[in-house]
Amino acid sequence: MGPVSTELQELRIEAESCTRCALSETRNKVVFGEGSSHADVMFVGEAPGKDEDLKGKPFVGAAGRLLGELLEEIALGRDEVYIANVLKCRPPGNRDPRPEEIDCCKGYLQQQLEIISPKVVVTLGNFATKLLLRTETGITRMRGRRYEWWRDTILIPTFHPAAALRGSSRLPDMRADFELIRLTLEETTDTSNEEDAPCPTQDPVQDKLFP
Ligand code: SF4
Repeated sequence: MGPVSTELQELRIEAESCTRCALSETRNKVVFGEGSSHADVMFVGEAPGKDEDLKGKPFVGAAGRLLGELLEEIALGRDEVYIANVLKCRPPGNRDPRPEEIDCCKGYLQQQLEIISPKVVVTLGNFATKLLLRTETGITRMRGRRYEWWRDTILIPTFHPAAALRGSSRLPDMRADFELIRLTLEETTDTSNEEDAPCPTQDPVQDKLFP
């Protein structure tokens, strides 16, 4: 695991005993998130699944392995990025998160984003993309581009790795999205040439993370 700030550690401790919503009654472990608190790129999925709930870690199992492979292909290690979910506890049977659960839990994600302050946020799958970009448009149409987002962050939506495992046609698109992540990180690091600065879409900048 990458370096973790005291602030992030304190937030993790708070989340691990959280009972703000009913998911605290059915979870095994809180899946707070993991990675470097200085990460330039932060991945946000929907909620923990069965394996994550048992292990207390995000993106384990086959989907996690695919995420690791895609990161490797753009020369990033899991410990160099940060990986979290919108919800920190598993909804029973992997059902969709409910609005009241998101309301109770969203403060953790907001604080994670504030502490880590990544340059690029990558939403994994339909749910996280729709929620964080406040759109009803599905991931298939939203992916492949970057969006100017909250607090000067660039948001790049892509498929959830589990979806790519179900349909191999999504994997080439995910690879293209990861190449966009690599390119964007390179451009944001290279401040010497302003003409090469990232060119987000015309979509308006979001002044608040959540409505
Ligand atoms: S899902 Fe979030 S708000 Fe609900 S109990 Fe877990 S950490 Fe707390």
